[in-house]
Amino acid sequence: MTEPLACFILDTGHCLASEHHLIEGGARQQMACHSLVALLRHPQHGWFLWDAGYAPAMLEATRRFPYLLYRLATPLRLRPELAVAAQLPRFGLAPADIGQVIISHFHADHIAGLRDFAAARFVALTEAYQAVAPLSGLAALRRAFIPALLPADFARRVHLLPAFNGPPLAGLGPTYDLFNDGSALLVRLPGHARGQVGLLAHTTRGRLFFVADSCWLTRSIVERRPPSSFVNFIADDPRSLRDTINRLHGFTAANPDIQIVPSHCPDALARLLEL
Ligand SMILES: [Zn+2]
Ligand SMILES: [Zn+2]
Repeated sequence: MTEPLACFILDTGHCLASEHHLIEGGARQQMACHSLVALLRHPQHGWFLWDAGYAPAMLEATRRFPYLLYRLATPLRLRPELAVAAQLPRFGLAPADIGQVIISHFHADHIAGLRDFAAARFVALTEAYQAVAPLSGLAALRRAFIPALLPADFARRVHLLPAFNGPPLAGLGPTYDLFNDGSALLVRLPGHARGQVGLLAHTTRGRLFFVADSCWLTRSIVERRPPSSFVNFIADDPRSLRDTINRLHGFTAANPDIQIVPSHCPDALARLLEL
């Protein structure tokens, strides 16, 4: 194992959602659902991102029907200065310094910032990209995917990963070792979106397990309370979503030193946010 990754957690903006939908038995009250991005640096391979979060492109892309429906379903509270590209200067960085962006899944709130990174390589699971690449209009929207958010040369710059065959994480299956040194392991987290992956990162802030949208609140894993079945219609496979939460519960119970970081969990964000 080489030295750990530097890791900064960024808030790229939020939408409003009902806690009642985000977790089984949740209160009937609105919550801010922030979209979190991790800015990471590998000692040899340089800077990379876990997801690209919200960015002004999101507002542009949801201006007209049918994608306007996305904005109506999840009212957006975005500010241009929260886009990752706009936050990089405070770390002494520019978009060209980002070598790669790992895409957990292709929902709009995770890819809206991609077009700001004209030089980056993208990394995603083949299965995830193939599920959305042919879609447009309402068919895309049903998968929370907005094609215009992908850079025009996305297909040329994406490195698509086939099924993983690296050493397994207990109960979660085989991994893909991003840098061949154990510092960043990708693992499939099925259920929420086709081909969704998580990232277990060995960082200077401890071991962080970015679980994307496997659940929206960390409590879902700790208390084994999945999202409300009311929102099953947006899940790729509700049954495996529940199964993934149970597996994550087992994994974290056995590895209490690992911090779970769902992309939209306000508690995780409050704990880790880089101001
Ligand atoms: Zn999602
Ligand atoms: Zn999301």
